[in-house]
Amino acid sequence: MGKQIAIDGPAGAGKSTIAKLLSKEKGFIYVDTGAMYRAIALFLLEKGVDVDDEEAVKNVLPEADVRLQFIEGKQCVLLNEKDVTDCLRTEEVGNTASKVSAYPPVRECLAGLQRRAAEENDVVMDGRDIGTVILPNAPLKVFLTASVSVRAKRRFLELSEKGEECDIKKIEADIRERDKRDMTRETAPLVKAEDAILLDSSDMSIDEVVSRLQELCRERGL
Ligand code: C5P
Repeated sequence: MGKQIAIDGPAGAGKSTIAKLLSKEKGFIYVDTGAMYRAIALFLLEKGVDVDDEEAVKNVLPEADVRLQFIEGKQCVLLNEKDVTDCLRTEEVGNTASKVSAYPPVRECLAGLQRRAAEENDVVMDGRDIGTVILPNAPLKVFLTASVSVRAKRRFLELSEKGEECDIKKIEADIRERDKRDMTRETAPLVKAEDAILLDSSDMSIDEVVSRLQELCRERGL
């Protein structure tokens, strides 16, 4: 078993930015579990499966082979042997991932892959259920959050920088809807693990959050 740092929290809290920086400094690999759910969502969208129909989703899951590859510490997601990493960050794929990640067969299909990555490597892993379900014995668990308006603003800037047209009100509404879905689903809902450290990044810079995490790592001998 490798060393484990688990970071959970809602969409847009800054998990991936922080996890990437921290993993680089520690020399751990960064496992972005959201990207794996997004790969399944992309598969379903491309196949034209009705994502509101859990049974239909379950039936086609065996046809989706999701794998991770780490090239110089960077995660690439392979879907049926094709590198789809650059196709995963759209709002459509994110919203579909949020929907289908509530289905137990989808979660079961990815949980083994995530645990295996943590067995074979030192990891910073981010997601929604890492500290509660996937790596319950991780010595450092962080629940990273921020207010809805701050998260919407960050997402707006991220999409605008990529030249995507977007509306901040719509982003905010999507975030609220996704929070609700992620927090109220029956299987592996987004909740703070009892032993996770709560970090609200609304008024913190990226550097401040990373410094705080480094301090927590030192305290735990990581
Ligand atoms: O973090 P990201 O926005 O890429 O995740 C997309 C969706 O995948 C989330 O809204 C969430 O519903 C789902 N997800 C999950 N469990 C994880 C990671 C992501 O349910 N560990």
